[in-house]
Amino acid sequence: MARGNRVLEPMTGRERVLAALRREPVDRTPCCNPTSLATVELMDLVEANFPEANRDGKRMARLAATGYTELGFDSVMPVFSIIQESSALGCRMQWEGKDNWPTVKMSEPIWAEPDDISIPSNLLTHPDTRCVLDAIRELKQEFGDEVAVIGKTMGPWSLGYHGFGVEKFLLMSLDDPGKTRACLDKMKEVTIQFGRAQIEAGADALTLPDHATGDLVSGEYYRKYLRDMHIEFVEQIPIPLILHICGRTVDRMEYIAQTGMAAFHYDSKNDPQESMDVVNSRISLVGNINNPETLYSKGPEEVVAEVQKNLDARVQLVGAECAIPLQTPIENLKAIPRAVKEWHGQHASMN
Ligand SMILES: [Zn+2]
Repeated sequence: MARGNRVLEPMTGRERVLAALRREPVDRTPCCNPTSLATVELMDLVEANFPEANRDGKRMARLAATGYTELGFDSVMPVFSIIQESSALGCRMQWEGKDNWPTVKMSEPIWAEPDDISIPSNLLTHPDTRCVLDAIRELKQEFGDEVAVIGKTMGPWSLGYHGFGVEKFLLMSLDDPGKTRACLDKMKEVTIQFGRAQIEAGADALTLPDHATGDLVSGEYYRKYLRDMHIEFVEQIPIPLILHICGRTVDRMEYIAQTGMAAFHYDSKNDPQESMDVVNSRISLVGNINNPETLYSKGPEEVVAEVQKNLDARVQLVGAECAIPLQTPIENLKAIPRAVKEWHGQHASMN
């Protein structure tokens, strides 16, 4: 794979990402993607299309590598979807085509009661989880000295949506906290097992999406159901963890900052400075560049402005807020590392 011409920098991308996840000094802010950077244009470049690139380790690795080789990010992340382990759990899948995300058919839930939840013995050897492990192994081998290889293991709240259906799971959480906890307790084993397997395969860090999303549940909900479980993940999955929750989450960032996770992948609905003030150096922040408007439909100038706003607030890692839309122009993505380098050039005397 072509690496292009790179200016020599004192730290490798991998060193930069891992240092920023520990809030240690860096030569410049890393560009990091805890979630997908895949686009249709990048699929064409390396002939690795959805849906195959979500099911075959080789194609998965090839498409993920473009985040580094084509876009110049400091990390690669091959788990483009949020449904790999749900497929292994037996959820009904819709794999879709090249220009659409695979989804779980939530109209056909597989669980109704905590007792229905069982972890299949092939959780880690099912083709849709095995391909993730294969891709991580391959990326580690080829790019492991240069960039951080980030994996992904879904949290139990997200798995609950997939197994029970979103509405049913949310209703249960309102009506029956005991039952909800029993479900989360069973599902958390999936998160831990898949996470540990990815560490063994060579991941440097893991994204842990747990969609207690701003518009669906409150900050109090996060504290009540998830904070302690997330603390447990930090103990059980010994690698830097990047928690991902979409939406406006500033009301739960205090609790998130208490978990010991390495970083929080945060949404553009939260102001960078306001968020940095709440987490107060207990956790790193990453993300915030708006997807549906800025990256998808505006131009490099607007992207640069959002990157600068994050750097001005001293946000530790820069990237998109969530999995980018598949039609995002490459030009807008390339503007992210360029903006970071320019900002550091201008601020060199200040640091
Ligand atoms: Zn998201």
